[in-house]
Amino acid sequence: MIHQDPFASLNPRMKVGETISEGPRTHGLVPSSEVSAQTRALLQQVGLEGAYADRLPHQFSGGQRQRIAIARALAMQPDLLVLDEAVASLDVSIQAQVLNLFLDLRRDLGLTALFISHDLSVVRHVCDRVAIMYLGRVVELAPADELYARPEHPYTKALFTSVPTLGTGRRAFEPVQGEIPSPIDPPPGCAFHPRCPFAGPRCRAEIPRLTAAGAGRRVACHLNDGGVGAEAA
Ligand code: SF4
Repeated sequence: MIHQDPFASLNPRMKVGETISEGPRTHGLVPSSEVSAQTRALLQQVGLEGAYADRLPHQFSGGQRQRIAIARALAMQPDLLVLDEAVASLDVSIQAQVLNLFLDLRRDLGLTALFISHDLSVVRHVCDRVAIMYLGRVVELAPADELYARPEHPYTKALFTSVPTLGTGRRAFEPVQGEIPSPIDPPPGCAFHPRCPFAGPRCRAEIPRLTAAGAGRRVACHLNDGGVGAEAA
């Protein structure tokens, strides 16, 4: 797991080396005689000096701390990495450095990663497949190229419409209408129906299932699953 805030996710009282080696030591992944060498190698793998193992977190910048968090995650020899808004709290230039480091490591180590983000540009840069969620449910799942070329779900379309682009020039911002409902008391049927311009009676009564919509795509919308139903006259 790599968390959003590297200022909160590292124990300020533990030296960086102790933080990185805690998981492998606890789970017996590395013989004690090799822990120190492995820790230094991991620091070098994420672009930091091995000698930094003896320093405390407050001696590092945000980008360096996120590199330490990546080293800590890699120390567990994971099959799957979960990055929860892992670059959201970094400056844009530092974001790019950390993302490129992550992409290099993913390629070199053959890692699978679940990358959670609100930044659609970053998602496009990093991900092979993208799942769009609304109020805790996946509403569309597709290969990234397919999704960005042709969004299908009304919520996905609304999201993409709101992304600023350099080529479009001046244009009016068109927000999704209405407020986000409470996740602990979601609307009946399709949770997006109070804000959806295509909603019909079926949308208010029946939760749409995630169904195949061609080319590795799945969409949870009645428009792709028999229709939204006719309004009573
Ligand atoms: S199921 Fe209905 S309300 Fe939900 S996204 Fe589709 S058309 Fe809109």
